[in-house]
Amino acid sequence: MKSKLPAPALLVDLAREAGARFAAVPVSRFPVGAALVGATTGKVYFGANFEIAGPSIAQTVHAEQAAFVNAWHAGERGVAALAVTHNPCGHCRQFLAETLGADFPIYVAGEKPATLTTLLPRAFGPRDLGKSKPLMATAPVKLALAGKHDALTAAALDAARKSYAPHTKGHMGVALELKDGRVFAGRYAESAAYNPSLPALQSALILRHLAGAKSPIARAAIVGSRKAQFDETLRAQEMLAWLAPKAKVAVALA
Ligand SMILES: [Zn+2]
Repeated sequence: MKSKLPAPALLVDLAREAGARFAAVPVSRFPVGAALVGATTGKVYFGANFEIAGPSIAQTVHAEQAAFVNAWHAGERGVAALAVTHNPCGHCRQFLAETLGADFPIYVAGEKPATLTTLLPRAFGPRDLGKSKPLMATAPVKLALAGKHDALTAAALDAARKSYAPHTKGHMGVALELKDGRVFAGRYAESAAYNPSLPALQSALILRHLAGAKSPIARAAIVGSRKAQFDETLRAQEMLAWLAPKAKVAVALA
């Protein structure tokens, strides 16, 4: 990155601001904020923890993952620094270590500056499974749909192409069209350890939330890969049926 990093104290203040503005914590009542500096542009991306009471505890997204989603979908290809209001949990340390692919500074409110390596030494990651490209630096995969499809499905297909699933080939994208016409497309981000993986629908919901979009979901398109070893399209449909029972949902395999 060419530009200078913002001062750590400023980044921590931005993380606090992100938590205050965007934490959605109906269950835990424990807001967490994050501010991530993209390595490509030097821009700062907000993230906050995001909980949906009801369907499943697995739908919870932490502030660090939300900030990552925000930066990755904006085209960032690495992370220059991260600030968080609280110490990252083990789950987030794993996710950050294997998906961002570089040892960047981490500033936590009230703590000494650290790096990812000091917070998670001897990390397990994609390299242990023979994958050398970290998540943010991976090129889109070739996926195609047979026949005609509308713009919303095209957005989901584009997200699926840019999703990260080198371990299971479960590439997937979800596009949500709101009643006000805005579209948010989310990509799947796979962990080498599988469990901190971030489903495509959650990425789309996070982007919608961070954009401050309140309009309900009118339509959704899900595009998964035929080569997937786990069919996450089923879980996305189930979740959408709970979140937006009246929304029309199109599912296609590429
Ligand atoms: Zn966490």
